[in-house]
Amino acid sequence: MTVPHPIAMLAELTYRCPLSCPYCSNPVEMTRQEAELDTDTWARVFREAADLGVLQLHLSGGEPASRRDLTDLVTAAREAGLYTNLITSGIGLTEKRLAALDAAGLDHVQLSLQGTNPEMADEIGGYKGGFKRKMQVAEWIGKIGFPLTLNAVLHRRNLHQLPRALEMAQEMGARRIEVATVQFHGWALKNRDALMPTREQAREATQIVTEARTRLKGRLVIDYVPADYHEDYPKRCMGGWGTSGLNVIPDGTVLPCHAAQSIPHLSFERVQDRSLSDIWYQGAAFNAYRGTDWMAEPCQSCERKTVDFGGCRCQAMAIVGDAAATDPVCIKSPHHGALQAQADTHAAQGDAPLIYREMPGKQAEPAE
Ligand code: SF4
Ligand code: SF4
Repeated sequence: MTVPHPIAMLAELTYRCPLSCPYCSNPVEMTRQEAELDTDTWARVFREAADLGVLQLHLSGGEPASRRDLTDLVTAAREAGLYTNLITSGIGLTEKRLAALDAAGLDHVQLSLQGTNPEMADEIGGYKGGFKRKMQVAEWIGKIGFPLTLNAVLHRRNLHQLPRALEMAQEMGARRIEVATVQFHGWALKNRDALMPTREQAREATQIVTEARTRLKGRLVIDYVPADYHEDYPKRCMGGWGTSGLNVIPDGTVLPCHAAQSIPHLSFERVQDRSLSDIWYQGAAFNAYRGTDWMAEPCQSCERKTVDFGGCRCQAMAIVGDAAATDPVCIKSPHHGALQAQADTHAAQGDAPLIYREMPGKQAEPAE
């Protein structure tokens, strides 16, 4: 098969984060600060990415503002010719820092929303006063005029706040909102009892989004990730494994998707040891589930195999114990019924306690 070049790169600059969201997609074992790539290495990786054909760079984490050199990293990315998007909780950004990022050429900001009021947001983020600070940051973002996307992760505890999240996006002048029902990877997998939406909530969320898309057409774009445990077909994960995007994590390891390290038999390479181009085209992990040759039945003879590429490999690993299996979300998977029953059991857990994301030696860094 002809391998396309990647279009987008997610640079997870650090796993440090002042928040502790129980749905965080970061791995349960996280890289310590001393293992993070330095500024010069990231700058080289950005140039290699641009040479490889990457157009969009998503600067993420953890909280990317926990990196003191964030402005220098944006400068380096812009010099490499990349479109830059900062994915942030807002905590750690000051007005001065945002102005410096603007001067460095930052193109876009994606602000996460843990809840639509202080009670919900601070409880879910595990950070008192976080909502107030985030609202202040949103105001500065609007004042500077960064194009803004609001990113609301929804689950059983806050799905009722979806209508308000849509209003807030408009009030903040966002052009787009990503309504993402929690995906169960990383810390979220530990929190299925606390976060799994009910079937009714999942249905209602889809209705609200459908109605809002019509009502707000031309004013607000709504990207929607439904609650996939309650769906009949899986999502096209990462646009297809090794097809359009790659992730570089804080220590320089390159992954086909953020949860790929949960597949134990894959081995991953680092930007310190091999060029990004070689890793993308020749790396064993990238070729493991690229295209459709690796598929078994029922995917191999399915008419949707180039639509969803068999769904999510990490989900197949987590639920079925086989990364090459059909995503159990799929109605054709022999595990589909069990997954749906499991989802209902998790959803019936009432006020199950939140298991907060934590990392060894966690500390928030002061702003620049
Ligand atoms: S999901 Fe929450 S804890 Fe995880 S990086 Fe984002 S803001 Fe931090
Ligand atoms: S059988 Fe495989 S390819 Fe077909 S819809 Fe299900 S996951 Fe997709």
